[in-house]
Amino acid sequence: MECPYCGQGSFEEGKIDVAENLDGQRVLVKDVPALICSECGEHAYLPGVVDRLNGLIRASLDDGIEIVVRRYVSPPLLEAKSA
Ligand SMILES: [Zn+2]
Repeated sequence: MECPYCGQGSFEEGKIDVAENLDGQRVLVKDVPALICSECGEHAYLPGVVDRLNGLIRASLDDGIEIVVRRYVSPPLLEAKSA
């Protein structure tokens, strides 16, 4: 799949780290599956990932922790808070 940003590279499946700042809290989600351009490094999310990622970030914020580092877990996302 050709990269829509630079038109030269090709999108390949890989994993990225996503950092978000929300309400004074930082959330870093690692190993998020995405399509990454081999040339310019731009990325796009795979179908369904954004919703899951947002849910993961929101769930993390509910914990009231200032800085959260989590690992993205591919579906089904059933990880327990008790871990
Ligand atoms: Zn590109």
